[in-house]
Amino acid sequence: MATSQVWFITGASSGFGEAFARYALAHGHRVVATARDTDKLAALTATAPERVLAYPLDVTREGAAEAAVAAAVERFGHIDVLINNAGYGIVGAVEETSAQALRAQMDTNFFGAAAVIRAALPVLRAQRAGAIVNISSMGGQMSFAGFGAYSASKFALEGLSEALAAEVAPLGIKVLIVEPGAFRTNLAGASMQHMPELDAYRDTVGHTRAFAHAMHDTQAGDPAKAAAAVDQALRADHTPLRLQLGQDALDAVREHAEQLLRDLATWTPVGAATAFDGTD
Ligand code: NDP
Repeated sequence: MATSQVWFITGASSGFGEAFARYALAHGHRVVATARDTDKLAALTATAPERVLAYPLDVTREGAAEAAVAAAVERFGHIDVLINNAGYGIVGAVEETSAQALRAQMDTNFFGAAAVIRAALPVLRAQRAGAIVNISSMGGQMSFAGFGAYSASKFALEGLSEALAAEVAPLGIKVLIVEPGAFRTNLAGASMQHMPELDAYRDTVGHTRAFAHAMHDTQAGDPAKAAAAVDQALRADHTPLRLQLGQDALDAVREHAEQLLRDLATWTPVGAATAFDGTD
């Protein structure tokens, strides 16, 4: 990848998105910083006005991604790194989460990212180079009580990303799925929706609600270090498909994978004995 790159970032107004933008600028890159409200990008833009394009992008708005990609190419000529970062969380039991809340979660975290990917791919394909970074979560590999809607959106993003990686690798494009644990951003604050509570879930989802409140502003993860880790993975000769960030994510993903392998081993004889007789 070129030494001076163009990074296109969704949700650059806060948290990880802002950290990715600041990291890229500090390394001499140009940044297409997109946000629902571009006023929130003023401080970032002021740090390097000639290298930042602040552009409005609500990832759920039809046609908005295409307009942002066109503006990026008009200003900087190409896109090297697309970071699909815009997102928010929901805490609530499956039964507590309305259809509307669930659809809205998928609209932003999954369909929004897919729309930006579709808009950027013609540019990346023409270049025969570039990287797509999809910010998932350790909740994109596993879930627990109260995070069903959020995890559903991240599992969906991971499924799409895994297929996409196979499709675009021959075209010279990398795909990286990022699975952070708890990082100090606004996710557990303004970006976390709490569903109306049903008493039946007090002992299960209740713990998750308390955990989500308590983690705000106390998370161990530093978004600036996450940005450096993502760049390191992108610059590697063999970029992994998935990158876990934070000891919490590393531990949880490892435990979950080990449990999967244990279940697979225990139940292999049962699963393997389901073919028509004579075809095994
Ligand atoms: P923040 O709340 O700090 O940032 C979220 C960003 O997403 C904001 O810039 C917000 O914009 C933007 N956003 C939300 N909805 C839309 C939309 N429809 N269109 C465009 N932008 C939108 O949280 P994070 O930085 O933590 O979140 C970034 C990503 O990281 C998310 O995908 C999240 O799921 C993921 N993540 C975060 C973890 C953490 O512990 N922090 C852990 C695992 C994953 P606005 O300012 O307009 O609200």
